[in-house]
Amino acid sequence: MMTGQEQALLRDNIAHVKARAAEAAVRAGRRPEEITLVAATKMNSAERVRFAVENGITVCGENRVQELMEKYEQSAYGDADLQFIGTLQTNKVKYLIGKVSLIQSVGSLRLAQAINKEAAKRGIRQNVLLEVNIGKESAKSGFLPEELLEALEKMPGFGNLSVRGLMAIPPVAPHKGNNLYYFHEMHQLFIDISTKKYDNVCMACLSMGMTNDFEDAISCGSTMIRVGTAIFGARDYGKPVQGIV
Ligand SMILES: *Cc1c(COP(=O)(O)O)cnc(C)c1O
Repeated sequence: MMTGQEQALLRDNIAHVKARAAEAAVRAGRRPEEITLVAATKMNSAERVRFAVENGITVCGENRVQELMEKYEQSAYGDADLQFIGTLQTNKVKYLIGKVSLIQSVGSLRLAQAINKEAAKRGIRQNVLLEVNIGKESAKSGFLPEELLEALEKMPGFGNLSVRGLMAIPPVAPHKGNNLYYFHEMHQLFIDISTKKYDNVCMACLSMGMTNDFEDAISCGSTMIRVGTAIFGARDYGKPVQGIV
């Protein structure tokens, strides 16, 4: 059970992150409503997630299928929109279809194809973002920037997908401001693609910015930030999820 103190802290953190995001938007000459806050809920118990949803969080992003399923069954997400933001194996796609409104992390044509196939079986169209490996890191998934146009040209063949935009996780940055370069690059790609016309593709969403850099991301045109630590506190990877209260 969460203590009153833990509840108060979580409530304050949510308000604080929203205020910081709104200020960053205004500084950039943008409207705060242009930016969607996705709470990155990994490693947090169903109770904590439920409390966050009852206290101002309207979108939750999970990054492991198993964890999402467990919390889903425990009704953690309530009325919030549920999205998937993590690395996804093609054999697990079937568990997500029908549960998540958006899969943010489509980084290969193979995965796009698997999602398309599963969505077709259920007779739905699945909203997705294409993940871009903007730092060209070998350990990371995602399309390389130079592969993106070719991938977009294949999208008309995926009638049960709707590509809503782009997502990126830039390299881990040792100093504040380090990722501005990547955020600018992402925004440029986003704008370039917006001017082109592909079936099943609409550049509505640019998902970038996490706890350490969401204000920089907003200054560069992000429309969706994914924030974990600044809302829920540091994650303790040593404890099982249900142990965290
Ligand atoms: C955990 C996670 C985040 C949030 O990270 P923080 O630094 O804790 O804000 C954002 N995006 C993805 C894909 C994540 O897995």
